[in-house]
Amino acid sequence: MMDTLCVVIDLSVKHWQRSATASDQPLSLPAFLIQLVAFLNAYSAGSSDNALAVFAAFPGKSLMLYSSTDTQPQSTTVSGPNSYPPFQLLDDAVVSSIIHHLESLSDSEQEAPCPLVGALTKALCFINRLTLDHNTNTSNAEGLDPIALPDPRVLILSVSPDITSSYIPIMNSIFSAQKLKVTIDACQLSGPDSVFLQQAAHLTGGSYLYLERRDALLQHLTMTFLPSPSVRGAIAVPTQDKVDFRAACFCHKNIVDIGFVCSVCLSIFCQPVPVCSTCRTKFPMKTLQRLNASRPPAQPRPAPIGTNGVSKANGSSYGTPA
Ligand SMILES: [Zn+2]
Ligand SMILES: [Zn+2]
Repeated sequence: MMDTLCVVIDLSVKHWQRSATASDQPLSLPAFLIQLVAFLNAYSAGSSDNALAVFAAFPGKSLMLYSSTDTQPQSTTVSGPNSYPPFQLLDDAVVSSIIHHLESLSDSEQEAPCPLVGALTKALCFINRLTLDHNTNTSNAEGLDPIALPDPRVLILSVSPDITSSYIPIMNSIFSAQKLKVTIDACQLSGPDSVFLQQAAHLTGGSYLYLERRDALLQHLTMTFLPSPSVRGAIAVPTQDKVDFRAACFCHKNIVDIGFVCSVCLSIFCQPVPVCSTCRTKFPMKTLQRLNASRPPAQPRPAPIGTNGVSKANGSSYGTPA
């Protein structure tokens, strides 16, 4: 059966340097790319119907590096007798364009953040385009509810910590993914756990994996992310035993433990506000006073235990009080 996979690669120069020089299990970008192309080849080898696209988030821009549905330019490198031409084409397209784009970055550009959400959005647009083609070919063009592709999914390979200003675009991407019935899988290769990627995987039925054994990257990729979501029920794929459900406030883009939600548009604020900055709704003074009175007193960070014994540690799974 046809399977659709979009891989989104985080290519933050700063964080790859940090990962390569880590004292504990360093993972360099070249070592990562060798294992990534092995995974991509394994996926393509699964079925000739498998659609594959690779997207990269470079500092300040995102690009599509490869798509199996577009005609590829002929490979310029001479392939050896032991190489299989379709794999060679894929490896060249992914690895050489990554090297080319990273080398063309100036020193100041390398410092720019890598918004993964741009590449994720492109991946969702690609899946949407395939869905439309699929519906045209199956004469469902006038159907109100387009038939979803069988098992479309996005795999995000991230090395950067969350960019809190991306919270709203990431949530919007998650909603689009849910509508397109796309599963989002995420693998955090180094650095701290990603709150947003955990939520993306949880809300779309995908797997989130924090890579603890960086020397076993290829094994983790093949065992966890190679099987399509429909067959994962039959195998023991790692699942999340806890999900960090915290949101970022719309006012300061901070990740908050307790937020205040606009009852009209569901915007989240870190403190009670008299007027919602998103929808301009005014709140009664009485409500503000009540909410302010109910706020826990400010505590010096880090605060492992909050008032009333409520755990404030990462992984708290209580919702945001309205
Ligand atoms: Zn705020
Ligand atoms: Zn509002």
